[in-house]
Amino acid sequence: MDIIDSHTHWGPSVTMGTEVTTEELLLQAEQSGVSRIVIFPFPSTALADEGINQRLLEETNRIKKFIPYYYIPETMKPIPDGKGFYGGKWHWMRGVQDCSSNYQALKEPKLGEFIEVSERIDLPIVLEEEFAFTEVFVKKTKSLKIIIPHLGGLGGNPMDFLDTFKGRENVYFDTALSSPDTVLKFIDKIGHERILFGSDIPFGTMKWELEKVLSLPIVDEKKEWILSKNLKRLIGFT
Ligand SMILES: [Zn+2]
Repeated sequence: MDIIDSHTHWGPSVTMGTEVTTEELLLQAEQSGVSRIVIFPFPSTALADEGINQRLLEETNRIKKFIPYYYIPETMKPIPDGKGFYGGKWHWMRGVQDCSSNYQALKEPKLGEFIEVSERIDLPIVLEEEFAFTEVFVKKTKSLKIIIPHLGGLGGNPMDFLDTFKGRENVYFDTALSSPDTVLKFIDKIGHERILFGSDIPFGTMKWELEKVLSLPIVDEKKEWILSKNLKRLIGFT
């Protein structure tokens, strides 16, 4: 079974004073049987130095297992087209890091253009914000493929995310750091087609997060979609 981790952090973290190295990610992948890994920069590092996006891209040219995502800067610059990025990471835009949304960002005139261009580029964006922020953001989109990490767990109550976005076919969820019970509730309600496996290294481990999905009481075919096929469809891998 092909397994792709859809959510990991690569490189140095300014605020945490640590670094997730290429070797660390490759080791965890080998130990878990993961064939490819989506990587994006740490927020604090990207905010301090936008050049990290370029360095991350260069590393993926060296390491074929890596799938690079672009960290969307506070200028709301869309994912550069044709550069080799497969997706983007939107992280508490202009907010207090990992803590609260800045609702002013929703009133930013550039937001409409950002969404319009991103819909044209048609790559997925992992979007982490509070529930109320996410709700307004999603309403502004038509086809933008939005991946809500942790089934919404860091932005509020996952059940609110589920109830509100169950009918939105362009909204996806990743399983990182969420409980198996919650993952099952999501699968029950929206099916397996919009759920992606992610570990959120260094906040989770690949082995533990993968074991969680593999242990779900669902048929292997559904697991296969969650573990790689849904992501492949999103990023256009054949
Ligand atoms: Zn993360």
